[in-house]
Amino acid sequence: MITQRERTLVLIKPDGVQRSLIGEIIQRYERAGLKLAALKFFVPNEDLVQKHYLSFDGWLEAVGTKSIAAYEKKDLRSPFATPVECGQAVLKRLIKYLSSGPVVAMIWEGNQAAGIVRKITGGTEPLTSDVGTIRGDFTIDSYSLADTDDRAVRNLIHASGSPSEAEKEIPIWFDKSDIMDYNLIQEKILYDVNLDGIKE
Ligand code: UDP
Ligand code: MG
Repeated sequence: MITQRERTLVLIKPDGVQRSLIGEIIQRYERAGLKLAALKFFVPNEDLVQKHYLSFDGWLEAVGTKSIAAYEKKDLRSPFATPVECGQAVLKRLIKYLSSGPVVAMIWEGNQAAGIVRKITGGTEPLTSDVGTIRGDFTIDSYSLADTDDRAVRNLIHASGSPSEAEKEIPIWFDKSDIMDYNLIQEKILYDVNLDGIKE
């Protein structure tokens, strides 16, 4: 795979749309130098959301492990006994969350796009996401508040965790014909080896 062509999936979740942050979020990825390869705006059904989260083997356990560790880091205890139990509850809540209204589904492309998008997006829990990231700057939810209210953590965005997750997730949201192959002028300055053609 040519690394300048790496692709990753981003969803602006229903809270991001309702907070009127579509433009702000797109701008963050766009200004970093990433290239928009596809975009859709619609209400996903429950089956689509379930398929999306279960596309990555071991997701149920991974999501629960991360959440339980975040509690432990704050000297608190997760309400769930095991990572899988936590993962199953989270999946149910995510299905409700993501199918509750329109989402913006996008593919962003560029050098190490999956990692760059995760960096710009910030960590899963807005309470502890770095300042300067989208989740850190625009919202304040936490695992504990979400668990108390039996709902998903509202963190504005889904971003594929790695290039291999992206490869599994992208076909769930987009057909091949939805994805644009095109040249963007800025790729010249980002990737061109010789920088010829600037001076007259
Ligand atoms: N989530 C949640 N409760 C949890 C863990 C996760 O509501 O205890 C939600 C949250 O919205 C998160 C999504 O599940 O964005 C997927 O979790 P993952 O660990 O994959 O985080 P992400 O990759 O989105 O940062
Ligand atoms: Mg994830």
